[in-house]
Amino acid sequence: MTCNHPFVGSVRCQGDHMGNQQSPINLRDAVVVPRLADELDVRWRADQFSAHDEGNGWRFRPRGEHVVCLGGADYRLDNLHFHRPSEHWVRGRSRGAEMHAVHLRADDVLRACVVAVFVDLGEPGPSEAKPPSGIDLPALFPGGGFHRYEGSLTTGDFDEIVSWVVMNDPVQVEDPALRAFVRTHADHPRPVQPVNRRFVLATG
Ligand SMILES: [Zn+2]
Repeated sequence: MTCNHPFVGSVRCQGDHMGNQQSPINLRDAVVVPRLADELDVRWRADQFSAHDEGNGWRFRPRGEHVVCLGGADYRLDNLHFHRPSEHWVRGRSRGAEMHAVHLRADDVLRACVVAVFVDLGEPGPSEAKPPSGIDLPALFPGGGFHRYEGSLTTGDFDEIVSWVVMNDPVQVEDPALRAFVRTHADHPRPVQPVNRRFVLATG
């Protein structure tokens, strides 16, 4: 998004010109919806990934197909990436790190579903410059409850196209190569944004 205001010129928009459904947010005061958990079906499997620094940070792109079904619509995994510390906050506190699994809607690639998982990298340890190619994706999904809200991408043009699913429980990253890589190559988080008039939903 670029401002057209004559006094602003081509300065990148911040604040007023941006929409009011931005991400990430601080998760609090959620509305509990008892059957919300039934709306999510995550079908991930272990796969090979190719990883590159694409300008906005490192993106792991899968070789195979991985589907998330949310509210009756299918979304296919486009990329995995990591932020350290986390982008979403929970009741005023950030977490150690956060994985984003960005899925694009099968029948409308301008809509996305991002499954966010808080990841625990364990004790400080070695760093690693080379990204792992094999990732056990199911091991990075905690299951259980989650929060749901409508928001935006947190990089690039911050398009408000994302149905967010933020899992409540963290996962421990067991693969030492992935752990070492995320320690050094995770993206910085974007600051939390105002919730404004949105509802944040939570599983019961
Ligand atoms: Zn992200």
